[in-house]
Amino acid sequence: TERLLEAADLTRHYAVSRGLFKPKATVKALNGVSFTLSARKTLAVVGESGCGKSTLARQLTLIEPPTRGTLKIRGVDAATADVKALRRDVQMVFQNPFASLNPRKTIASTLAEPLLINTRLSAAERRERVEALATQVGLRPEHLRRYPHMFSGGQRQRIAIARAMILKPGIVVADEPVSALDVSIQAQILNLFMDLQDEFGTGYVFISHNLSVVEHVADEVMVMYLGAAVEMGDKRTLFAAPLHPYTRALMSATPALHPAQRRERIVIHGELPSPLNPPTGCAFHKRCPLATPRCSEEAPLLRSVDGRQVACHVV
Ligand code: SF4
Ligand code: MG
Repeated sequence: TERLLEAADLTRHYAVSRGLFKPKATVKALNGVSFTLSARKTLAVVGESGCGKSTLARQLTLIEPPTRGTLKIRGVDAATADVKALRRDVQMVFQNPFASLNPRKTIASTLAEPLLINTRLSAAERRERVEALATQVGLRPEHLRRYPHMFSGGQRQRIAIARAMILKPGIVVADEPVSALDVSIQAQILNLFMDLQDEFGTGYVFISHNLSVVEHVADEVMVMYLGAAVEMGDKRTLFAAPLHPYTRALMSATPALHPAQRRERIVIHGELPSPLNPPTGCAFHKRCPLATPRCSEEAPLLRSVDGRQVACHVV
């Protein structure tokens, strides 16, 4: 299958001011993330807020360049390519659909706009594409004449998804796309994502802190902690036997997950450290129940263990 995204050592550091008379400090928001995404696959990115998920999303949608590392989209290096053309191929769905919907535009014109800007389709062809996609996302023809405020949250997210899909992008980055919705609506929206993936072959990067959501949609999972992947692999492998202490803690904190194979509850203490002043050695060592003296001195690298990649000295 086609490789849609190839991220190699993707890194993003920011210089931030600490005050008028102090030298600038560096926020290490993203530290050497590597992965590939193929057509029809979903990579779920999991972690606490502040773990680098949103920085990663901005990298993948070409909003800001990396400090280090490379990103290829369908084999094309984003650093050397026509970024405008590549951006069409990577669309975004946000947590709050209002962010991507203009309140003054009808749904029809919101959906038609990207076609008007980016294609040479005639008005009739644009209308045809808009109506077909609206039906596919579960809207009715009369909805197209209405405005965003006339819809429920779930319907608005359907519209935002249609807007992301209208140019048939290869890749959609979805940042917590169901976490603002009623639980009763979440599964419908997740199923819509999966139906559209079957139809169009889209690759998804699905950012979510909710492991039930991740289990529903993911093929591959990347667990992030303080800007880096700590465990990565096939969803079934990870959910059946998470190895990294942080992954195990996340999973043991989700009560509905696999009650049959309940593991011991791992409680992580303390806050996510600041990326401004990350701990030495393993970034997780101050919160890790399994930490050894080596952990505070030496950063563990990702390596293959039991069919996945994990960055930990003791597993
Ligand atoms: Fe815990 Fe050490 Fe493994 Fe880091 S390297 S997760 S501190 S055991
Ligand atoms: Mg799928």
